[in-house]
Amino acid sequence: MNMRPNRLFLSPPHMSGSEQEYIAQAFESNYIAPLGPMVDQFEESIRNFTKAPNALALSTATAALHLALRVLGIGAGDIVLASSFTFIGSIAPILYQNATPFFIDSDTQSWNLDPLLLEEAIHKAPQKPKALILTHLYGQCADLDKIIELCKAHDIYLIEDAAESLGATYDHHQSGTFGDFGVYSFNGNKILTTSGGGMLVSPHKDLIEKARFYSTQARNDAPHYEHTEYGYNYRMSNILAAIGVAQMEVLDERIKKRRQIFEWYREQLNTIEEITLMPELSNTKGNRWLTTLILHHTDPNAIRLALEEENIESRPLWKPMHLQPLFKGALSLHNGTSQNLFDKGLCLPSGTQMTQDDVVRVCTILKKALA
Ligand SMILES: *Cc1c(COP(=O)(O)O)cnc(C)c1O
Repeated sequence: MNMRPNRLFLSPPHMSGSEQEYIAQAFESNYIAPLGPMVDQFEESIRNFTKAPNALALSTATAALHLALRVLGIGAGDIVLASSFTFIGSIAPILYQNATPFFIDSDTQSWNLDPLLLEEAIHKAPQKPKALILTHLYGQCADLDKIIELCKAHDIYLIEDAAESLGATYDHHQSGTFGDFGVYSFNGNKILTTSGGGMLVSPHKDLIEKARFYSTQARNDAPHYEHTEYGYNYRMSNILAAIGVAQMEVLDERIKKRRQIFEWYREQLNTIEEITLMPELSNTKGNRWLTTLILHHTDPNAIRLALEEENIESRPLWKPMHLQPLFKGALSLHNGTSQNLFDKGLCLPSGTQMTQDDVVRVCTILKKALA
């Protein structure tokens, strides 16, 4: 990574100012462990914000997805439908469970999973799919109504990968709270960060309790630790949860700022025919985690390099899973949408410490490179 000073990063951490104080409290309580009052408080703040009735703080969102599959009984040979246009952390847990991913392409309205292709995939799958891992990409909600209807009609568990979409709403309800499970990430570049961390939420209390059990090595209640099953060491540290508690206090502000940054970009770029910014479904309000766009005729790599010359970080859109060498020959239904987005797309710096001047500077360089 280029670490020249004054580099404009894609999405760097942005502390609220209260983190050190809460970390100090965690030290005073001596809960320097993967449990403690800050972990409880962090879970509570997520429940309050999202209105999800149950929450479990974990080491990563990838771990949270893994636990969701495990407690739903997804195992060897089971088919798990999944968004193809996503990050590998969304998909690797399917492989951890020796299940079989079936990748579904995006629609052009949301850039997320296409409900029409989902329906086709359900009918074409070699056996009845057990679950769907649905990603809300770049903080934008998928077309949930149609997707939920299909999952219900075909008895398919819905797991929302809301790693990038904490705070995004669909019909005024929080992303991550529509399915059997929702997952949020607090990795270093997400809208909030604990340096690394994840949260599993669910309407099913019994399943969250089961996930809690698996997340701490599946220890049965005995002084010597009795084991009838195996688990994982996936729980969140109380120190990192202290950072999370402080970060949650500024979530509303952070969403507002990300959306403001997107508007600043829009003002600068909306008259340029060559560029289309990521759309937003009418009944949704995304968190605009990253401002992303596609260039209709220009190689996005040329723009990326022009920005890099000026010490500005940008990044291609995610490479769809059905195009990854790892998944050569995997089950998939594609319509060209995510490949097109990958070929033409770019993520622009969107960190919440950016000023309007920063946005103008990025756009000036971008426009010059287009000319
Ligand atoms: C970041 C991310 C993950 C993984 O989150 P971790 O907390 O780093 O494990 C999963 N899915 C998507 C879409 C992500 O962006």
